[in-house]
Amino acid sequence: MGWRQSVDLVEFRHAFARFVGPDKYRKFLRALNGEGRWRARLLYWQEEMLSRFAASTGNEMVTFEQVESLLRVCEMHHLELERDPEALSSRCRGAVTDYTRAQAEHFPNTDCGPLEMGRRRENYRSGRWYCPTCRASESEWRRRTGSGSD
Ligand SMILES: [Zn+2]
Repeated sequence: MGWRQSVDLVEFRHAFARFVGPDKYRKFLRALNGEGRWRARLLYWQEEMLSRFAASTGNEMVTFEQVESLLRVCEMHHLELERDPEALSSRCRGAVTDYTRAQAEHFPNTDCGPLEMGRRRENYRSGRWYCPTCRASESEWRRRTGSGSD
């Protein structure tokens, strides 16, 4: 099945979102943008969702390798993620702070995982995916609260 062209890519997202519903679609993207790219594989419930969708539409897009590039999108702002080859991606999120609370609410996707995906021993890797609106929102939050970058 050819979901490769950009129109198909948008169609795939819309069809998948319609099929699973907005809450599950958001949850799917959240998991992908959280640790998904570090793991470079889907969680069981994600595979289940894709299998049901694949069966209903006759497509065969059920693996991480097949869908990751189709679903490279911010679940909050619905924007394409962009690549920053310079920034570090961090595998672990720290303890709950004002920053992590604001992040969850306003800018969840300043770090959507490494450009080079897959399980590795290190907790940091150079090059990461991010949502441009999340990044702008984070800068605004830092400016407003006087917190420098960490
Ligand atoms: Zn965003």
